[in-house]
Amino acid sequence: MGKALIIGCGGVASVAIHKCCQNSDAFEEILIASRTKSKCDALKEKLEGTTKTKIQTAQVDADDVDALVALIESFQPDVVLNLALPYQDLHIMDACLKTKTNYVDTANYEPEDTAKFEYKWQWAYRERYEQAGITALLGSGFDPGVTGVFAAYALKHHFDEINYIDILDCNAGDHGYPFATNFNPEINIREVSANGSYWEDGHWVETKPMEIKRVYNFPEIGPKDMYLLHHEELESLGLNIPGIKRIRFFMTFGESYLNHLRCLEDVGMTSIEPIEFEGKKIIPLQFLKAVLPDPASLGPRTKGKTNIGCIFRGKKDGRDKTYYLYNVCDHQECYREVGSQAVSYTTGVPAMIGAMLVMNGTWKGPGVKNIEEFDPDPFMEALNKWGLPWKESFDPELVD
Ligand code: NDP
Repeated sequence: MGKALIIGCGGVASVAIHKCCQNSDAFEEILIASRTKSKCDALKEKLEGTTKTKIQTAQVDADDVDALVALIESFQPDVVLNLALPYQDLHIMDACLKTKTNYVDTANYEPEDTAKFEYKWQWAYRERYEQAGITALLGSGFDPGVTGVFAAYALKHHFDEINYIDILDCNAGDHGYPFATNFNPEINIREVSANGSYWEDGHWVETKPMEIKRVYNFPEIGPKDMYLLHHEELESLGLNIPGIKRIRFFMTFGESYLNHLRCLEDVGMTSIEPIEFEGKKIIPLQFLKAVLPDPASLGPRTKGKTNIGCIFRGKKDGRDKTYYLYNVCDHQECYREVGSQAVSYTTGVPAMIGAMLVMNGTWKGPGVKNIEEFDPDPFMEALNKWGLPWKESFDPELVD
């Protein structure tokens, strides 16, 4: 039994909050605090009466460390679950440090003015978190998140050493719009318009955006085009999985999405450099976000499935071994259950599970930890219980 402060009330937070309320044996009380309090109040109103979890709401600017400290001191949570945007990570980590409170997030810090996400800013808190005796669990979504748990599970149960990991993220959902993003458009477009990269033989190999394309026949979905991207878990898995020679990350994109993205890039709409517009400075990408469909509105329209997983190759008892772990999630089933599509669902469920394991002390640092540093078994069990059952194959198609 414990208390969680949840910061942010967007697509991912909404799922995590539904799941905390389903899991009221673990989440006795939650406080939902975000920039726009009316969204927190609407969710509270929807969920109250359906759960034993006590729900409170508050307005907070998560970039204001003093305001966060005051909120944490008054609510006294066992864990703070950060489901705002990556820009807020360090401010929320500062507030947790000042109040000696455990911290969980789903995405690593990214400065607002440079589209470059790296763990170095958050890893710089390691010693201070250790000294304070508190735990920060970084990246408890699906990717990063479940992908790291899958890697730790594969290493613990199936391999003596893992040499190759391919992370494959397929969203075969169709929302019927020519162009929309499935989570925060600003964060999503920053990620996919950046150079790609993969980790090989101890160093990064950089590629142009979408330069490397493969077709993969996804179980329960079929063949899809996928493209190599840089992704944050490559950085931590490259360090934490012994014997690793190469890790790559691929994500599927449809032709319509890519054509629109290319056009938006060509006309400058994805830029994060401020421009002067009618006497005011605006950032083109933020303006674009304002005119695109809100990801939260895609839920009722999205049909189809996601399949996210990892193919591992390595050695067991001196022999070569291949192992594929993945989850398939149906957009409409997610919508029926919690009112959100599968991209928010596949992130919100692991966020709840990570917060639960830190809150009840199953996962204890102290220090700043990536998810693959913990025992994967309780998390794998919880995935099956809370809506993201996983499947395995010992003879998967490989990516060349
Ligand atoms: P949304 O834009 O839907 O939600 C973000 C929420 O944070 C909104 O409620 C927003 O408030 C709130 N917020 C933003 N800035 C502040 C602030 N300064 N103070 C307080 N609240 C603030 O994003 P998503 O739910 O799609 O994504 C949430 C996080 O999940 C992101 O960090 C994203 O990168 C991550 N993610 C991780 C994935 C994974 O697999 N690991 C996959 C998908 C997403 P308001 O309502 O006022 O806008």
